[in-house]
Amino acid sequence: MTATRTRITSDVDFDKDGKHNGWLRLPYSSNRSAHGNVCIPVTVVRNGSGPTILFAAGNHGDEYEGQIALVKLARALEPRSIRGRVIILPASNFPAAMAGLRNSPIDSGNLNRSFPGDPDGTPTEMIAHYIGAVLLPMADLFMDIHSGGNTLVFTPYAMARLSKGNRRKRECVAALRAFDAPLSQIQGDVAENRFASSIAETLGIIALAGEFGGGGQVSVPALQIVERGLRNLMIHMGVIEGSGTDQPSASARQTRFIRAKERTYASDRGLFEPFVQLGDRVIRDQPAGAIHFIDNPMRPPVTELFTGAGMVMCVRAPGQCERGDALFWLGEDCDVSEFER
Ligand code: CA
Repeated sequence: MTATRTRITSDVDFDKDGKHNGWLRLPYSSNRSAHGNVCIPVTVVRNGSGPTILFAAGNHGDEYEGQIALVKLARALEPRSIRGRVIILPASNFPAAMAGLRNSPIDSGNLNRSFPGDPDGTPTEMIAHYIGAVLLPMADLFMDIHSGGNTLVFTPYAMARLSKGNRRKRECVAALRAFDAPLSQIQGDVAENRFASSIAETLGIIALAGEFGGGGQVSVPALQIVERGLRNLMIHMGVIEGSGTDQPSASARQTRFIRAKERTYASDRGLFEPFVQLGDRVIRDQPAGAIHFIDNPMRPPVTELFTGAGMVMCVRAPGQCERGDALFWLGEDCDVSEFER
């Protein structure tokens, strides 16, 4: 491993064959523990040379399907059944995962707005730096598993960020097809570049993410999509051997590609009554929902309108909303053939 400067130490050997369970130790001096460490669980399963896959979840601590899928995978995966290496990080922002919160309770850090991070920064910035500078350079394929957390619910989809500069667009689309979620979102150029996937793109790694459920719950169908997809990806990369129904080509499903479009935002504070559900098709100027004023029942509700047409791919979870909260995201079908030539 290259001598990247980081204050985080690992008690697993990434380069040794076998199964290694341990912790990434992030020095954190706190009121509770003067010379303490934040211990972030990591599992490395390695068998000889071959591709490296990095699976991560708990980037946001209130997104549970990926965390559950990865602790199950970490327990189940054995070196004899793989070729190459699988690195599993089920609780990337560990303090956030333990608190069941999007952001870290110790520094308020949002890990997925913290890349490329800082080896001398806050704990969340140090984790971002370690993932980007130490873990990602080892990986041929990276998947960061998300959901809508406590405040959004997504119709489950895998996704890839395909910015203009992405050198692995074709491989990313092939990996999305292999993962085989019912939906796959293609994210084009976006202004936000502090995601884990932004660093993966810069490094030229095949990178996937995905939004699987949300609303502070564990979605059983979304968890099944994640677990099946992770297995499909390992087969796709040649890390495990697939047979029979494990083969993506043998499944009844075939992913449909979408692109995110308009979002609808709350224009007032109140109780949000959605008029549509996940997966519904809507048209421009269609009423999206109403905001009711429980402190003044005679005040007429505010009706929010969709600003475009498409499929509802995300809805706000809590009943209460404030001005500026995202209520809905829409998606539209997307042709990926340009990326597959
Ligand atoms: Ca997320």
